[in-house]
Amino acid sequence: MSTHSEPLRRLALDRLIKDAGGTALPDDASDEPHFAELLDECAALIDEITFTKKNDGHVAQATMGAHPLVTYDPAYSSGEATTDDVPFRTASILHEIMHVSVDKLYDKPTDPSEKIYWQSVNFHYATTAGSSFAEQSQTVTENLQKVMARATADSKVDTTLRSHIERRYIYGCAGPHVHYDTVLLDLLVYLRLKGHSRKNVLFAYLTKLSQEARNRRMDSKGGPVPPASAT
Ligand SMILES: [Zn+2]
Repeated sequence: MSTHSEPLRRLALDRLIKDAGGTALPDDASDEPHFAELLDECAALIDEITFTKKNDGHVAQATMGAHPLVTYDPAYSSGEATTDDVPFRTASILHEIMHVSVDKLYDKPTDPSEKIYWQSVNFHYATTAGSSFAEQSQTVTENLQKVMARATADSKVDTTLRSHIERRYIYGCAGPHVHYDTVLLDLLVYLRLKGHSRKNVLFAYLTKLSQEARNRRMDSKGGPVPPASAT
């Protein structure tokens, strides 16, 4: 009897990432359950999305709708010395799949004239206190600021990695209502592919925020985005 067992792989996701020119995902680690559940969430959507390779200079882009589309460019380069393109391609295609997931999961207003403003929004629509678009956009911006502050304070984050995180932070803050769960995910993926785990302070912090976001998006009574703790 063999004691060796093959690790579970998400084959369709593996194939997509390979085709997108990205770094292969690591095998699941028992002490990283949140990372595994994020990958399960993305893998479950693959059959609902049309993926197209396109040499358009965009690492990956999603178009929402009844039949979501995601394009990706395996030849993409950020042109930034402090971003490692190969793991960033993996992080980016998963970021786009997460856009599709949040679009499906977060509650939207029923009024069509209002609904268009809530497409792809990374938090629930609700009329309860603290749930306005402005309030929740403000909270996610402040939470991303706390991530950046954590990265700056973390001696395990070198200047190269900090520059990459700062670009993702700026990107997220340019459209925070659609870039909270999605940017938390792409940072987690990029850091994981760079060998980080929950033993690292920043990775543990990102995991905590991403876990909170996932719990909330999976629950239609999940309420507004809570302010992150400083640590
Ligand atoms: Zn995005």
